[in-house]
Amino acid sequence: MTKRIFRSVCIAAIGIFLASTAVMMVVLYEYFSDMQMNRLRLQTELAAQGTANEGIDYFTDLDAGLYRITWVGPDGSVLYETGSDSTSMDSHLEREEIRQALEYGYGESIRYSDTLTKRLFYAAKKLPDGSVLRLADMQYTVWVLFWGIMDKILIVAALAVGFSLALALRLSKSIVKPLNNLNLDEPAVNTVYPEIRPLLGRISSQQKQLQQQAGQLRQALELRREFTANVSHELKSPLHSISGYAELLKEGIVKQEDIPQFSERIYSEAQRMITLVEDIISLSHLDEGGEDFQRKTVDLYALTESVVQRLQPEARAAKINLSFKGCGAELYGVPQLLGGIIFNLCDNAIKYNHENGDVRVEITDDKNHILLTVTDTGIGIPEEYQERIFERFYRVDKSHSKEVGGTGLGLSIVKHAARFHNAGIELSSTPGIGTTVTVRFPKM
Ligand code: ADP
Repeated sequence: MTKRIFRSVCIAAIGIFLASTAVMMVVLYEYFSDMQMNRLRLQTELAAQGTANEGIDYFTDLDAGLYRITWVGPDGSVLYETGSDSTSMDSHLEREEIRQALEYGYGESIRYSDTLTKRLFYAAKKLPDGSVLRLADMQYTVWVLFWGIMDKILIVAALAVGFSLALALRLSKSIVKPLNNLNLDEPAVNTVYPEIRPLLGRISSQQKQLQQQAGQLRQALELRREFTANVSHELKSPLHSISGYAELLKEGIVKQEDIPQFSERIYSEAQRMITLVEDIISLSHLDEGGEDFQRKTVDLYALTESVVQRLQPEARAAKINLSFKGCGAELYGVPQLLGGIIFNLCDNAIKYNHENGDVRVEITDDKNHILLTVTDTGIGIPEEYQERIFERFYRVDKSHSKEVGGTGLGLSIVKHAARFHNAGIELSSTPGIGTTVTVRFPKM
C-alpha cells in the first residue's frame, strides 16, 4: 500500500508540474505577444507621423532598433526598406497588412517564417499621400522558446521530482502508519480516519457475526458430542443385558423352565435397541432438514385413528382407557413424521399414567388450525422440567423411563417433526393430575 500511495503521489506531482509548466508557457507567450503587438502599433503610429512630416529624410540616421521598416508607395512599389535595396524588391500590394492599410487606413497581420521557428508581426499605416508605412517585428515561436530554456526547465523538473519523491515517501508512510496500528480486535474504538469508519463498522459487525457463528458452532459440536455419548451409553446397556443373558444360555446355566423368561428379556432389550436406532435415524433425517421426506395430503383423523388402534394392546396391558374422537382434517405433510408425533404423544400418555387412568386423543379445528390434543390423567410433569423434556435424552425420571421402554428421544422427535410442519406445541401439566399436549398445525 505504501508503494501504491508513493507511486500515485509521484505520478500526480510530476503530471501536475508538467501540465502547469506547459500552461504557464503558453499563457506567458500569449501575454508577451500582445505586449509586443501593442508596442509595434505605437511605433508604427510614431514612424508614420515622422515619415508624413519628413518624407524619406525621416529614415536618414534613424535607429530602427529591431524593427524592420518598409515604406510602400500607393502602387505597391517599395520606396524604402531598412537594410535592403528597395529598388530590387517586388510589389507589396498583395501583402495582407498593406491591403488592409490601403483600404481602411490601418492593417495588421501575423505570418510564420518558412521554418516555422519565427513569427512575424506586421503593422501598416496609410499616410496622407496614399503611401503606406509598415513596421515588422519578429518573435520566436513558443517551441523555440521552450527549447531555449529546456536546460532550466529540466533543472526545475529534477528538483520538483526529487521534492515530490521525498514528499510522497513521507506522505505514504504517514498515511499507512495509523492503518498498520489499527486495533482490529475492537474496530469501533479506532478514531484515526473518519473516512474509514464505515469500513471499521463493517469489520466490527462481521466479527460479531463470526463470534456468534463460532459460538453456535461450539454449541452444536457440544450438543453432537453429548448426543454421541448418550447414544453409545443408551446402546451399551441393552447390549450388555443381551450379551449377559445370551452367555448364561450358552453356558447352560439357565434352568429349562427359566429359558422363556430369559428369551423374553433378550427380545425386549433387542426391541428397545431397535426403537432407539429408529428414533436416532428419524432425528438425524430431521436434523438434515428433512429433504428426503415426501409431503402429501394426509387425513390426520384417519392417521390418528390407526395409531390409536395400534396402541390399544399396549394401553390394555397397562390398564389404561385409550379413547379417540374428532373430525376429518386434511393436512399437507409427511405421514411418517405426523405418525411419529401422534405415536410418541400417545405412547408417553400411556407410559406415564396410573393404572385405570385415561388417555383422550382428539382432533379439532379452529379457523386457521387443526389441533391434535392428547390428554392423560398420569403422573404429570413438574413445571421446572416442562421445557427440558423436549431435549434429546432428557427424562424426568430416568429409571422409570427405562422401565417403561423409553428412549428419551420421543419428545425431541415430536418437537422437530412439528417444526417441520410449522406447527406449534403447547403443554400443560400438573404433577399427580395429568398432562395435556396440543399440537397446532396450520391449515392447508
Ligand atoms: P421417553 O422415551 O423417556 O419417554 P420422551 O422424550 O418421550 O422420552 O419424554 C421425555 C421425558 O418427559 C420422559 O422421560 C418423561 O419423564 C417426561 N414425559 C413425557 N411425556 C409425559 C407425560 N405424558 N406425562 C408425564 N411425563 C412425561
